[in-house]
Amino acid sequence: MKTSLIAVALCAGGTSWMMAQQAPDPYRQISEAYVRLVLAVGQHDADYVDAYYGPDRLRTEAATDKLPLPDIATRAAALETEVARTALPSTKDDADLWRLRKQYFERQVSALRARVAMLQGKRLTFDEESRALYDAVAPRHSESEFSAVLAKLDAALPGSAPLITRYEAFKQAFVVPRDRLDRVFQTAIRTCRDRTMQYIDLPPGESFTVEYVTGKSWSGYNWYQGNYRSLIQVNTDLPIYIDRAIDLACHEGYPGHHVYNALLEKHLVRDRGWIEFTVYPLFSPQSLIAEGTANYGIEVAFSRADRAAYERDVLFPLANLSPDRAKEYYEVMALVDQLSYAGNEAARRYLDGQIDAKAAVDWLEKYAMMPRARAEQRVKFFDQYRSYVINYNLGKDLVRTFVERRTKSDGSPRRRWTEFAALLSSPRLPSGLK
Ligand SMILES: [Zn+2]
Repeated sequence: MKTSLIAVALCAGGTSWMMAQQAPDPYRQISEAYVRLVLAVGQHDADYVDAYYGPDRLRTEAATDKLPLPDIATRAAALETEVARTALPSTKDDADLWRLRKQYFERQVSALRARVAMLQGKRLTFDEESRALYDAVAPRHSESEFSAVLAKLDAALPGSAPLITRYEAFKQAFVVPRDRLDRVFQTAIRTCRDRTMQYIDLPPGESFTVEYVTGKSWSGYNWYQGNYRSLIQVNTDLPIYIDRAIDLACHEGYPGHHVYNALLEKHLVRDRGWIEFTVYPLFSPQSLIAEGTANYGIEVAFSRADRAAYERDVLFPLANLSPDRAKEYYEVMALVDQLSYAGNEAARRYLDGQIDAKAAVDWLEKYAMMPRARAEQRVKFFDQYRSYVINYNLGKDLVRTFVERRTKSDGSPRRRWTEFAALLSSPRLPSGLK
C-alpha cells in the first residue's frame, strides 16, 4: 500500500520506539484483539508468551484483568469469525503479503483456541496436537530405519562396548573447555553475523547478549526483547561439544531467531504498524517457521565442506582441540544427525502414553544416540514443551523444501539468501510453505 505514512511514537518497556503506520488497516482491531488474547493466555501458561515488545498498556491490562480461560475461548471464537469476514484490502500492492497476513490470523487464532482447550483439560494425541498448534504433522519412522544408520555408526566407532558408550567416549575429545566457551561462541557469532550481513540488511543497532545458565530443559534459548535486541541463554548443565558453537550462533543468532525477530520487527511492526507481530506465542504455527528457519539457516550460512574447514581452522584451535580430528568428528555427527526423527518417535510414544519416562530415555539412548543425561534432559523438554519437538527437524525440512523450490532456476548463494530473507521477513506459516 502506498498511502500516507503516519508516524506514531509509542512507549514500550521504558524505551520509545517509532512505528510507521499505514492507513487504513482493515485488520487494526483484529490485530489488537489478538495481542490481548495472547497476553491473556500468558496469564495462565508461563511458557506461552515467548516475546512481547508492544505497548505496555496491553501487558498491564492483561495482568489486571486476568481473563478466565472460558472467556478467552469465547473471545477467540469471535475473533476467528471476525477474521473470516474481514475482506482483504483491494490494493494490488503487496497482495501476497496481505493474503499471508490473513492466513496468519486464521492459523494463529485457531492454535490459540487449541492451546486454551488444552489448558482447560482437553486431551489431544501427539499428532492432533502438533496439527492444531503447529499446523503440521511429523512423518512416522520405524525402528528399522534408525537401525540402518546405527549399523553405520557401529562401523565408524569400532569396539566391544555398547554403541552409546563408544559414542560418548568418542565425543569426550570434542568437549569445549568451560573457560574457552565464551571465546569460541563469540567468534562463531561474529562469523555468522558477517556472513549474514553480506546478504541481508540488518536493522541498525541490532545486537544481542549471551548469558550462561543452568537448570533448564533446553540447551539454548533466544529471548527477543524488541528494539532489535535479543538475550541468548546457553545452558551449561551438560558438556558442550564443539559443533554447538556454529549451531548455536546460527540458530539463536545469525541468520536464525535473532534475525527473524529483528526482520519481523523492522518490516511488519515498524514499517507497517502490524502490532500482532510484537507478541510471539510459543505454542503456535509461528514456532515451526522460527525453529525451521533457525535450523535451516545453518545450512544457508555454511555448506558442509565450508563449515568443516572453518571449524578445523578456527574453532578447534580456539577450543584447544586437535584440528586433525575435525573431519572424523563431522563424519560421525552427520550420521547422528540422521537419527533426529527418532526424537519425535520417542516424544510421540511417550506423550501418547504408550511408554513411560524411563522407556522414553531408553529409546532416545538407543535410537537417537543421546547419552543418558542428555536423554533425561530431553524427556523433561517433552514434559514442558510436548509436540513442540517437531518444529526443529520437520520445520527445517519444510523450510528447506520451500527455499529449494524457489531457487530451482538459480541455486546461487545470493538467490538462496534472498529467498531465505524474504521468508524471515514475512508472516508465512507452515501451510503457506506448500
Ligand atoms: Zn530455537
